[in-house]
Amino acid sequence: MRQSKIFTKTRREAPADEVAKNAQLLVRAGYIHKEMAGVYSYLPLGRKVLANIENIVREEMDAIGGQEIRMATLHPSENWKQTGGWDGVDVLFKIQSRTEKEYALGQSEEEIVTPIAQEFVQSYKDLPVAIYQIGQKYRDELRAKSGIMRGREFGMKDMYSFHETQEDFEKFYEVVKASYLKTFKRCGLDVKVTEASGGAFSEKLSYEFMALTDAGEDDIVYCQLCTHCANVEVAREKEGDTCPKCGKGNLKKARATEVGNVFDLGQKYPKAFAFTYKDKEGKDQTPIVGCYGLGTTRLMGTLVETLADEKGLVWPESVAPFAVHLVSLGKVGDEISKTADTLCDDLVKAGVEVLYDDRDVRAGEKFAESDLLGIPKRIVVGKEAVATSVFEVVNRATGAVKKVPRSELLANCKLQTAN
Ligand code: ATP
Ligand code: MG
Repeated sequence: MRQSKIFTKTRREAPADEVAKNAQLLVRAGYIHKEMAGVYSYLPLGRKVLANIENIVREEMDAIGGQEIRMATLHPSENWKQTGGWDGVDVLFKIQSRTEKEYALGQSEEEIVTPIAQEFVQSYKDLPVAIYQIGQKYRDELRAKSGIMRGREFGMKDMYSFHETQEDFEKFYEVVKASYLKTFKRCGLDVKVTEASGGAFSEKLSYEFMALTDAGEDDIVYCQLCTHCANVEVAREKEGDTCPKCGKGNLKKARATEVGNVFDLGQKYPKAFAFTYKDKEGKDQTPIVGCYGLGTTRLMGTLVETLADEKGLVWPESVAPFAVHLVSLGKVGDEISKTADTLCDDLVKAGVEVLYDDRDVRAGEKFAESDLLGIPKRIVVGKEAVATSVFEVVNRATGAVKKVPRSELLANCKLQTAN
């Protein structure tokens, strides 16, 4: 993609109405456009990052047998009244039609997925089943100052699984937990997992996937030696305590954001819709439901908060909008830009995603903009490269500079984007 053809532009100054670092940088770099507090549009570069995150999530959900669907986001109010959500869910956006009818905007999809599953799950032979979607959610959040980390419209992957027995649900639940850990790792995000283990306190099973960042709105304590982690809001544990799990480490407190969670919905939703299936003996039984959320746009915002530096965005290779930023210091038609043109073609042919800065702009400005955009590798084509056929490759995250001969350049870029 030629940079001269991208319709968005970067800006030097942070927008005055944004306090969150993620929104400031993403707006400056032209990745997103603010419509109002908590509502953003995703522009070409931002859409690519989000699509890359969504594809990783999709691959991992498919790998554990999830079946992707696309549910309606404009919901009949009747479904919400049936589950008690119409009056019980404070963040639910309610819409009054010009007719008498009322609607809700999807803030979660239990009210839609349960009747869908009910129609097709008639016998124990139809279970278990896991259904998911990746799409928009709407919530009337009171605070919307965290940029794309807390939206009133935002992206979420939500999966719902239906089971015959608690045991079967708990087995699948562990599978999803492992799949989430893999998903976050592939997206370049470190997470800790808090657990409410149920049993003794008769709580429902739940795991929260927490990314450590000061931009988060949760406080957690975690063990410095083992994997133990707890949400301060519910835990009896506090900083400095000895870890209740390993008995060795000390607990440390940190600010975090919840990027995903998985929990046990029990039989609440099937009961609300009188959803039963026939067991082996032909008797009516109520399925057990699990629900698994993952905030795709919050994940993107968290990557910005945790990886960006004073120069701008820094993307992990797995979600970056392009693998390579090819920066030509030439002018249209000169040797430098011809060399850059050919290199761009070769990289594209080799399957490397390239953003090619072919514009007639000062070198300093190009580099500053390149840093702001955060593409993992920058290849510079200047006089020296033309004369020596050796190119400067800059690693955005570390700033490390490598001199790579033309003959090794393709292999070098391909290797590093191969994950
Ligand atoms: P929070 O406590 O942060 O409001 P939640 O418990 O309401 O989160 P869920 O209803 O479980 O979250 O939603 C699943 C996932 O969707 C969350 O783990 C989070 O990653 C994401 N999410 C929730 N609310 C928002 C929001 N307003 N903006 C962006 N992402 C969100
Ligand atoms: Mg919430």
